[in-house]
Amino acid sequence: MAQQRFVIVGGGLAGAKAAESLRDKGFDGKITLVGDERHLPYERPPLSKDHLAGKADRDSMTVHPDSWYAEHDVTLALGIGVSRIDRDDHRVQLADGSGHSYDKLLLATGASPRRPPIAGAGAPGVHYLRRIEDSESIRDTFATASHLVVIGAGWIGLEVAAAARQAGVAVTVLESAELPLLRVLGPEVAPVFADLHRAHDVDLRLGANVAQIAPNGVKLADGTEIAADAVVVGVGAAPNTQLAERAGLRVDNGILVDDALRTSDPDIVAAGDVANAFHPLLGKHTRVEHWANALSQPPVAAATMLGQRASHEDLPYFFTDQYDLGMEFVGDPTGYDRVVFRGDVAAREFIAFWLKDNRVLAGMNVNVWDVVDPIKALIGGKAPVDPEALADPGKPLTAVE
Ligand SMILES: Cc1cc2nc3c(=O)[nH]c(=O)nc-3n(C[C@H](O)[C@H](O)[C@H](O)COP(=O)(O)OP(=O)(O)OC[C@H]3O[C@@H](n4cnc5c(N)ncnc54)[C@H](O)[C@@H]3O)c2cc1C
Repeated sequence: MAQQRFVIVGGGLAGAKAAESLRDKGFDGKITLVGDERHLPYERPPLSKDHLAGKADRDSMTVHPDSWYAEHDVTLALGIGVSRIDRDDHRVQLADGSGHSYDKLLLATGASPRRPPIAGAGAPGVHYLRRIEDSESIRDTFATASHLVVIGAGWIGLEVAAAARQAGVAVTVLESAELPLLRVLGPEVAPVFADLHRAHDVDLRLGANVAQIAPNGVKLADGTEIAADAVVVGVGAAPNTQLAERAGLRVDNGILVDDALRTSDPDIVAAGDVANAFHPLLGKHTRVEHWANALSQPPVAAATMLGQRASHEDLPYFFTDQYDLGMEFVGDPTGYDRVVFRGDVAAREFIAFWLKDNRVLAGMNVNVWDVVDPIKALIGGKAPVDPEALADPGKPLTAVE
């Protein structure tokens, strides 16, 4: 039988981990990983944290060292993107006209920063953050800028604000909602992040509508002008689905896949930020733009490519580090009717639980560690819990019923 050829499109964490999983599972055919960035696949969380702060160099972020790819016989095609998938011929075409035939194909094309429909949002010198070069050019501004404006109080905007403050730069954060992270955390928990940034002298302006953006400042809809030495826009990311759409795959807020990460074409799977996967425990499609998902989906994608039965059932998990606040979040709070706190919210040392009908949907531990597994067990338990026991720090989480 001819040697099997697997192609991975996307040289990020999900793509690199899928290559690793395929070899771990004993695949001895050809693996080609095509990535449009010229760097070895790397992890992005440090781009808004230690790399932005100048504390982590490029090499420390790579998923595997250069030598790993040769040792595992993985062919890297970096610096040129795939421009087309020919499903009938089982072939991907690269932007330089070259191509690769595949038996199975993984799409791990990630996401790109959203550009808000605001005048000047695409102007040269207005910063977005997704790639190494973006992080380094924002870091360069810290050396000379005295005032940074951040548009969007989501995770990335807030992490950039924290890094800038720690570099001694004055920061204004503009957010159109009434609280930072309101959509993700809800009104009970989001104030924690407003207080955190205000305690570090961030000028946090909520309910602010930006009408115009320029590299040297912004204008609000009410006419207020805010001058700045640099502007960073962090208003979310959109999945890179263009290739899949052009190939006629089913796409809806990401490439639609089942729990085995199979697309509407049985020879094509998708994983990572670009995949909108059916989640059997949540009972719905979910697209997760987080690091842990780009780690846990590739083994499932690899198994599916190898014809093995696999299902991705990990709960969404996310972490952030801002100033001296470290946080982990697990679960999906959609539809919650109550939030229960355990610990000291004012001291930023607590766990928050999102409940519906006294069942735990999600939990967030702030500066409290080694509790993710018991929180997952509470979410997975699906039985109602006693909210008073949940709130009682004297009662071990494993004993909450
Ligand atoms: C600044 C920043 C900070 C973050 N911090 C955290 C954090 O603290 N915690 C957390 O849980 N998550 C965090 N994340 C999210 C996490 O990094 C992502 O979930 C993860 O990178 C997703 O990996 P991926 O491989 O799916 O996609 P990506 O990392 O986006 O990789 C996809 C790759 O595919 C390439 N590509 C796209 N189209 C093509 C094509 N046609 N041909 C070839 N290549 C293509 C892209 O250029 C990219 O290199 C952060 C993300 C960013 C940007």
